[in-house]
This record gives sequence, structure tokens and C-alpha cells, in this order.
Amino acid sequence: MPARDQAVRARYAPSPTGPQHIGGIRSALFGWLFARRHGGQFILRIEDTDQKRSVRGSVEQIVEAFAWLGLDIDEGPHVGGDYGPYVQSQRLDQYQRWANWLVEQGHAYRCFATPDELAEMRKAGRGYDRRYRDFPADRSAEQAAQGMAHVIRFKMPLAGTTRGKDLIRGEVAFDNAQLQDAVLLKSDGFPTYHLAHIVDDHAMRISHITRAVEWLPSFPLHLHIWEAFGWEKPQFAHLPVLLNPNGKGKLSKRRQQFADAGGKSVPVLVHEFQSAGYLPEAVVNFLTNIGWNFGDDREVFTNAEAIARFALQDVNPANSAYPIAKLDWLNSQWIQRIHANELASRLKPALEAAGYAVDESLLRRVAPTLQVRLKSLRDVAPMAGFFFADWNDFAAPPAEILIQRKMDAAGTRHILQSALPLLAALDDFSPEAQHAAIAAYAASSGLKNGAVFGSLRAAVSGQRVSPPTFDVMAILGKAESLRRIKLAVAALETAIA
Ligand code: GLU
Repeated sequence: MPARDQAVRARYAPSPTGPQHIGGIRSALFGWLFARRHGGQFILRIEDTDQKRSVRGSVEQIVEAFAWLGLDIDEGPHVGGDYGPYVQSQRLDQYQRWANWLVEQGHAYRCFATPDELAEMRKAGRGYDRRYRDFPADRSAEQAAQGMAHVIRFKMPLAGTTRGKDLIRGEVAFDNAQLQDAVLLKSDGFPTYHLAHIVDDHAMRISHITRAVEWLPSFPLHLHIWEAFGWEKPQFAHLPVLLNPNGKGKLSKRRQQFADAGGKSVPVLVHEFQSAGYLPEAVVNFLTNIGWNFGDDREVFTNAEAIARFALQDVNPANSAYPIAKLDWLNSQWIQRIHANELASRLKPALEAAGYAVDESLLRRVAPTLQVRLKSLRDVAPMAGFFFADWNDFAAPPAEILIQRKMDAAGTRHILQSALPLLAALDDFSPEAQHAAIAAYAASSGLKNGAVFGSLRAAVSGQRVSPPTFDVMAILGKAESLRRIKLAVAALETAIA
């Protein structure tokens, strides 16, 4: 790897406006993959200069979301670092100092336009008319010294073209005549994004600004501010954003749930994915697949595998509709892919939340039987909770559960009674041995496997859906399985009588 890779420093710079949204993670993820690909650093910086929009507790939620997703952060408010503080409201003196420097150097000016004046300009359908751009410097300084309210605006070139290089989009060009003299410092002394992020990205030695494409229109302004400071510019990548599942509009931030094509609610906040039983590996894999291609027709891959191949140049510049339908499939793939013991420890909280006292060694035996069955961790309680209920309390399920399609009570009782001695005779009670014995019985009596296996499943689990029947019986053990089958036979006898 070339030596300059060592200097790669990318960042995620969210405004702390509430729970972490998946759209922000998607932008952050591409910066993170890029930093990791080049052995660089990934920095978290909190952009809280719009105090009205800041929500208490957001930083903790952002940090928790990254930790859950397994996206490690090298520097940030929670871990520190050499370039802190990493929270903009703690760096206000920096922005004021640099805004004043730009005024002194003639790159920016104080604007004393009153709210009424600005409202009038807006009403007339014009932008700000630059009325203080050429205001004499001594009068400007004097009015400021007298405490007259003002903002600081950047002096944009009035004509010509601004060109910039974007790592995803190539060269982009902007007509300067369309651009405004943007506000850098507000009258309350707080900076705008335009000033603050540049001061910080410079101070924090950011090498690559990876941010959402909605910042592309301000890119020429930012390039001129970098020039005015005379600082070496970082490289830029304006990332595509996620659209609503119907392809219309940016994936909504405030509306936390909305119906997708199938009418089911769609998770958009990181904690919603967590509580819906998605694995973080699946969520990250899902996001990485949007607008970037692993290649080789592979959709399931680890972060390490993605890092080895990731290049910003390969990101598709087009925004993507949120392909939420893929997530369930990816989740089931990841449930199969992680180690069964790991799956066991991730299932435990869902079982406990459903009220089961979890025996861990039992859970480790159950987990492998669930790997090909679960779509979501949350499905574990309805599917396999019965293992963790007190076995002494087990009662035969009602006849409508026991009796399979196209079967009746007498036929079901007959199947279960016939299975009892066959299972009792097995020394090896492995799923394979059970299967061989029961399948041979089904074949010799002209019954469908489905009817026979299904009757046994219902008898031993009490459910229509469970992990594979013979696995269930192997875990329950021979004595408990036979006991449950006998309970079912007795229940059916009562139903027949
Ligand atoms: N605070 C900005 C935002 O949340 C950051 C944009 C950037 O990454 O520079 O959109």
C-alpha cells in the first residue's frame, strides 16, 4: 500500500437530532469502509451548532448504533483523540476567530441587514442582494464595536465557473453567478455548517470528505472557502442517498414507519433493526450492497471481505430506493452463517424477553436446529420457546394442532401409537436413526411422510411449526419424547370418545 494511505482520515459528522437513522449510517459506512481499506482513521464529529435542533442523548444513541453495528471509531467525543474536542459547540472560539480572519483578509464581510430587510428581499423573490459587500471596512468595524447585530458572509466570485473534483462523480462545474454570499457566522456567534466543517476538517486533518449528495450544491462555496483560507483541500466524495421504498423522496427521517409495497412497516432507525431481530452483520451487509457491488455475483459477505475490495470510485452515483425486501433474506443468510454458539448468545435476550428462564447449555443444543429456520432473532420464542418452558408442565396440544391436513383423530392416534414402540426400540436416539425408523414405517403403511412427521412434531412440541421434528426429539431425549407422545394419544382418545 502506498505510504500516503497512512494519512487517510475520514469522518462522520452527524447533527445530534435524535435516534440514529439508517440513511446516516449508509453515508458513514462508505467513509468507514474507505478508511479501513486504506488503513486510515475514522472520526466521529458532532455538528451541534444548530442548537434548536439538537436533541439531548443523541450522541449516546449514535455511539451505541455504531457499536452495535460493529463499525469502530478511532476518534470522537466518547473516545477522545489528538484533535478534539469533537463536538462543535465546544469549538466556538475557533469559528469566530477564523470568521474574523476572513473579514480582515477581505474574503468575508459583516452584514447588518435586519430581519425585516431580509424578509423583504425574500418577498421580492430575490436572494440576498449583497448590500453590505462593499460597505467601508472602517464603518463595518465601528458598527460591530458598537454591538450592532450582524452576520458574517462569504464573498463569492460574481462571475465565472467553479470546478471541483468528486471521487464518485468526476469533475463537476458550477456557474458562480447562481451562487449566494452565504452566511458563515450567525448573529448569535454560532457558525453555519459551511464555516464550521471546513475549520474542523482542516484542524482534524481530514483527508477525505465523504458526505451525502445534498451537499453537492454547496460544494463550490466550500471550495472557495478552502481557497480563501489557503489550506490544502481534502478530497471529496458526494455519496448517493437512500430514497423511500417507492423511489420517491429521500428516505424519511421523521416518519419512523411507513408502509412499503407489502404494507408492512419498515425500520429506518438503527434501534428498530435491533428490536426487530436483525443481526448487525446483516444490516451492514444490506447497506453495503446498496449502490456498491461486491462483484462475483455475491451478495453475502463480511465487512473484512468488503474492505478488501472497497473503492469510492465504484460507488454508483445514483440514489437508490430502499430495498428493504432484501433484508429478511440477508438476515436468514447471516443467521445460518454465524457460529451456532454465537447464535445462541444472540437468541438469549429474545427468549428472556418472552419470559423464559434460559438454560444456556440447552440453548446451545437448540441453536443449530434454528439456523435454517429463523428469519429474525425475534422468531425464536414462538418457534422454540417450548424447550425452555418447564417440561413437567407440558400438556398435549388441542386436537386441531395434533391432527394434520387430510387426517382425522383416529388416524392420528394410530400413527402416534405405531411410532411409540419403534422409537422406544432405538438405542441410538439421534435424528438420523429416528428418521430411518419413522420413514420406513410411513413407507410400509402407505402414509405420507408429512402426515407422520407432522403428527409427531405436534405431539412433542405442541406446535404446528418447530425446529425439525427429529432434532426436537433428540434434544428432549427418548423418555420425554415418549411421554409427550403418550399424552397426545390420551388426548386424542378423549377427543374420539
Ligand atoms: N452535519 C452535516 C449533516 O449532518 C454533515 C455533513 C458532512 O458530512 O459534512 O448533514
